[in-house]
Amino acid sequence: MNREKAKLMQIEVCSTAKSMYNSGLVAGTWGNISARIDEDYMVITPSGMDYERLYAEQMVIVNMNTLEYEGSLKPSIEAVVHAAVYKDRPEVNGIMHTHSTYALTVAAARKPIPPICDDQVQILGGDVKVAAYTMPGTKEMAESVVDALKGRMGALIANHGAITVGRTLKEAYTGSQVLEKTAMVYINCQSIGGAVEISQEDIDFFHDFFLHKYGQKK
Ligand SMILES: [Zn+2]
Repeated sequence: MNREKAKLMQIEVCSTAKSMYNSGLVAGTWGNISARIDEDYMVITPSGMDYERLYAEQMVIVNMNTLEYEGSLKPSIEAVVHAAVYKDRPEVNGIMHTHSTYALTVAAARKPIPPICDDQVQILGGDVKVAAYTMPGTKEMAESVVDALKGRMGALIANHGAITVGRTLKEAYTGSQVLEKTAMVYINCQSIGGAVEISQEDIDFFHDFFLHKYGQKK
């Protein structure tokens, strides 16, 4: 493992955890964040710690094959889910898992979110599926989340919360904000007769644009 990279990822995961906490996407110590170091290792937030008091060295380095970890703090109980997603998705380098209010509302209703917002389809890649209800931190949860994420950058987890992934942790963070807003828009639209869905042709165009052409030319 590249120790320099591991350190940088610890710093990034810690600062993203603090932003997540301050943004209101999580309450208390709920939710967790990770970043990939390489094929075999990731950095993840520790279990049950106060986000405000976290410092970078406390972010836990976990072997994704064995789930063994370094240091005295236990990794988040959902490390097994993060590891399974990294193993399934080589392009993913950052993951955010939240229990944010609107996403959890839709997840509790176990309703997938149709493709209704521009930024949703650009960043998340289309409709948002709901992973089956399973016990947190189990292999079953890992499998159902990996399934619900197929071809997407975000999913809901039945009666539990939301998960977003990105080519960078920053992208996963943006995804979690977009998913929370999309869930709110979806709920609001129900009261005025329902949203009109974006066509598959437009979804493909927007998502491809985001993945390959968005941002400044290098
Ligand atoms: Zn959770």
